[in-house]
Amino acid sequence: MLPDFELSCSIFEQNGLKLNREIYNKLDSYAEFLVNYNKKINLTAITEPNEILIKHFIDSIILYKFVDLPQNSSIIDVGTGAGFPSVPLKIYRPDLKITLLDSLNKRINFLMQLCDLISVDAEFVHGRAEDMAKMPEFWEKFDFACARAVANMSLLSELCIPFVRVGGTFIAMKGPNEDVSLGARAVEILGGDAISAQNYFVGEEERRIITVKKISQTPPKYPRNSSQLKKKLL
Ligand code: SAM
Repeated sequence: MLPDFELSCSIFEQNGLKLNREIYNKLDSYAEFLVNYNKKINLTAITEPNEILIKHFIDSIILYKFVDLPQNSSIIDVGTGAGFPSVPLKIYRPDLKITLLDSLNKRINFLMQLCDLISVDAEFVHGRAEDMAKMPEFWEKFDFACARAVANMSLLSELCIPFVRVGGTFIAMKGPNEDVSLGARAVEILGGDAISAQNYFVGEEERRIITVKKISQTPPKYPRNSSQLKKKLL
């Protein structure tokens, strides 16, 4: 399914990453399962093997080049969809503890079958982030909350920061022109420190990774419920 091992290694290297046979085999099975499942349940518009390698797998794994993820860190992936970024990251860094959250059960079902198939250990949560974050087992429990391509910075901050423990980090993976200032007020209200952003390239495409350190507790009235979130950004 994926480009052969040697070619995949060189594409990884062009992006500053190393690949070994074990990781390659898991990614290859992931790609095949994704493309087949995608024929009956819509998971992704990207189905060409080379593009899956670059735009899904490398684009996910590259997170670890920009954020220091200590051994055994816990990460909740908010709006994970077909598992991006945290499933490829977990394949690359098996020590990480990942929690996959999505509001669509068909995506969670896909992820459960995928993780079983490729022997990836993960926790699965079906629900809306704004509801799940209020639950005691998830409230301020994670070292990291990450999200790729889910919402604008203000809304995303409200969906993610409540999951992060004080001292942990919220990570947003965005397009190159994401307006960071849109999230500044929300980040401050929710207990985050200053927003920092870094641009980089994956293949030919520019990306922006945004990180926010959590320095104080989130007031318990956040995140607001879905209808309030829709009405007004923080
Ligand atoms: N992160 C994946 C990626 O980069 O390919 C999926 C991105 S997809 C555009 C957005 C995902 O976020 C969808 O799977 C959707 O169901 C989920 N989502 C949107 N709002 C959500 C919310 N409030 N709580 C949980 N999941 C949500």
